[in-house]
Amino acid sequence: MGLLIKNGYLIDPATNKEGVFDILIEKGKVCRIAKNIRTKGTLIDAKGMLVFPGLIDMHCHLREPGGEDKETILSGSLSAVSGGFTTICCMPNTNPPIDNKVTVRFVINRGEESECEVLPIGAITKGREGKDLAPYGEMVEEGAVAFSDDGDCVMDSLVMRRALEYTKLYNKPVISHSEDKNLLKNGVMNEGVVSAKMGLVGIPSEAEIIMAYRDISLARRTGGRLHLAHLSTAESVEMVRAAKKQMDNLTCEVTIHHLCLTEDDVKDYNPNCKVSPPLRTGRDVAALIKGLKEGVVDCIVTDHAPHTEERKRSGFENAPFGMIGFETAISLAMELRNEGLSLMGILSCFTVGPARVLGIDRGCIKEGKYADMVIFDPEREWVYRREDIRSKSVNSPFIGREMTGRVIKTIRRGKVVFDLNLKG
Ligand SMILES: [Zn+2]
Ligand SMILES: [Zn+2]
Repeated sequence: MGLLIKNGYLIDPATNKEGVFDILIEKGKVCRIAKNIRTKGTLIDAKGMLVFPGLIDMHCHLREPGGEDKETILSGSLSAVSGGFTTICCMPNTNPPIDNKVTVRFVINRGEESECEVLPIGAITKGREGKDLAPYGEMVEEGAVAFSDDGDCVMDSLVMRRALEYTKLYNKPVISHSEDKNLLKNGVMNEGVVSAKMGLVGIPSEAEIIMAYRDISLARRTGGRLHLAHLSTAESVEMVRAAKKQMDNLTCEVTIHHLCLTEDDVKDYNPNCKVSPPLRTGRDVAALIKGLKEGVVDCIVTDHAPHTEERKRSGFENAPFGMIGFETAISLAMELRNEGLSLMGILSCFTVGPARVLGIDRGCIKEGKYADMVIFDPEREWVYRREDIRSKSVNSPFIGREMTGRVIKTIRRGKVVFDLNLKG
C-alpha cells in the first residue's frame, strides 16, 4: 500500500534532481520517484508545494539530561520536526555531560522514543573540562557522530592537538567552539561602537579569529578532521576560504541567526539576542553570506539553545547565551534568496552539507533510502507566535516576525511526524 506524494516540486541537492514528480513511499523507504505514479494507499496532494529532504541540524542543545526544565529530547524533537528537521545532533554540554558510552546510549535511547533521529555529539574532554581526552572509541561504538566541548573552547592547544590526532582513528570530526576565553572575559555582545554606546562589555571578533586560526593550524599539522562551529566574523570565513584550498579536512558552519541578525538587534537589550558567539556587524553578515554562496561554508545550523524565561529575564548582562531555533530556521533561510542565494544552495546547507560533514547516509530523497522529507509551501505567509512554540522554552527573538514559506508536513521514515493542518 504505502504513501504517495503527488505532484510536488521535488528539489534535492544530493542528487541535483529538480522538477515535478510523484514519490511513492513503502515500508519507510522511498520506493519510486517518477511522473504519474498510480497506486492504492494514502495520497498526499503536494501540488504547488516544494518537496525536499528532511533537514539535518548538526548543532543543537537538547538539555537532557539535567536541564529538563528547559527542554527534553522529546520536546526538542517535536520542535525540530515542526521546523522540517528529521535528524538533529545534540551537543554534550548537559548535566552530566555526554562524555562516556553510558550517556551516549541514554541519549540514543531517548531519541528512539522521540519524533526525529537524535545523534549525540560526545565531549572532546572528560567533563568538558578541557584537560583529559574523553573515551572516543566507546562513544563511537554507541553512536556518537562527532566530538565537541561546545559552549566552551578547548583552551589548551596541546589537548586540542591530541583530540585532532586521536579522533582520526574513528574518522569523526572535532567540532570547535573557537573562542579565546581570556579575550571573552565578561563580554555580553560584539565589541564595537554599539557596545560602547550601550555601555555593555564587548567580545572582540579576535576571540574567534585567534582560536579559529589555531584550530586550522592544528588540523593542518595533524590531518585530523576539524569542523568550525558557528563562524561569525568576516575574517574567519576568509581564513577558511584560504585554508580549504590547501586542506580537505576542514569544514565549517554558520547559524541561521548570524545570517539574519546583527549587533543592531541587541539595541533594545533583548536578552533573546544574546548569543555565543555574539551577533556581529553587517559587514560580517555579508561575508558569511558570500561564504555560503561560494561553498566555503558547508552548513547552516540552528544552535537551538533553550533557556527558561526566568533566567532570560535576569537582565541582559546576567542572561544566559542562546536562542531557540528549530521552528523558524528554514523559513528564515528562504529569505536568503533575496541576497542572491539559490534555493538549491540553501537546502544543500541543511541536507547534503551536514550529511557529508558527519558521514551519515541522510539528507537525500533517493530510491531505497529512508523516506525523510518535508512538504513546504513557499507562498504561505505566517507569523511566529508564542502560543505555537513547541519547544519547552520560548527564548526566540523571532516571535511576532512575519515570514513567507512554511513547513506543512514533515515525514520521517514514511510516517507523518508533523502536520500543520492537524496541529490545531
Ligand atoms: Zn558554541
Ligand atoms: Zn552551541
